[in-house]
Amino acid sequence: AAPLAIVRGAGEAADHGIVMRTGEAFQTLRQVGTVVLDKTGTLTLGKPTVRGIHVHGIGEDELLTLAAAAEHSSEHPLARAVVNAANDRGLAWPEAGEFSSLTGLGVIAEVDGRRVLVGRPALLTEHGIDTAPLQEAIESWTSTGHTAIAVAVDDTPAGVIALGDALRPEAADTVTALRQAGITPVLLTGDNHRAAAHIASQIGITEVHAEVHPDHKAAIVRDLQADGRRVAMVGDGINDAPALMQADVGIAIGTGTDIAMESADIILVRDHLHLLLDARRISRTSYRKVK
Ligand code: ADP
Ligand code: MG
Repeated sequence: AAPLAIVRGAGEAADHGIVMRTGEAFQTLRQVGTVVLDKTGTLTLGKPTVRGIHVHGIGEDELLTLAAAAEHSSEHPLARAVVNAANDRGLAWPEAGEFSSLTGLGVIAEVDGRRVLVGRPALLTEHGIDTAPLQEAIESWTSTGHTAIAVAVDDTPAGVIALGDALRPEAADTVTALRQAGITPVLLTGDNHRAAAHIASQIGITEVHAEVHPDHKAAIVRDLQADGRRVAMVGDGINDAPALMQADVGIAIGTGTDIAMESADIILVRDHLHLLLDARRISRTSYRKVK
């Protein structure tokens, strides 16, 4: 049976909106020296919206129509944002024919007989499409913390859609408090380097791993563990699940995906990053009482 102090600690945590799924989570959390934070949906609210469109040889509405048709079947939050923007403009789009979704990259779909690619600029490059005409727009949007997704139509670069996702209001405070507790915060994201660096500098994180493919997030956690440090990972998405399991303590945001929550040791039910600090405090005081 769990020591009484742990049971009481779990009760106190629950009162704050923190679910400790294992007794071990308490013991390990107090020893954590590194906290890895996912960007989208963890440090940000995870509700991206379209903030700008840059077109190349095509009209804005046409670009958005083709992109929405291609993204229609994707569950990705960026895809939802593109579809919403097309809806807001009152656009209607045809059903896509062949469709494929490439994890961490984007989508490829056939729309009215045209092949449409929407995703990371790397998705276009990998298909032999030159992104040079889009580069200036991509750089200007990403340097201000936006996610820039590129669109190609029939193997021709057609435009850039810039998406923004607001930082959680408590993100900077939480990172400052972690630092003051001697914990190293690390940012981990599939998003581009520039946007990641912009957000990291806004909230005081200096260690950034960006453009990390979902399959590699767990490997980054493993590398951080290699020097003997205890690592906590905070995430919300399907693509965070392996990293949450790899971490010494996996912490899922309660508004996140079911898979993230099933993979975590601790769930922050109330959707607020300060709970991370409460969880740590409770784990420390409970453990002290056990000793
Ligand atoms: P994150 O770690 O930020 O949740 P993902 O690994 O899901 O990011 O995706 C990484 C990048 O791949 C995104 O920033 C985006 O550029 C691109 N991407 C992935 N899926 C899509 C999609 N459905 N539409 C457009 N771009 C996408
Ligand atoms: Mg996320």
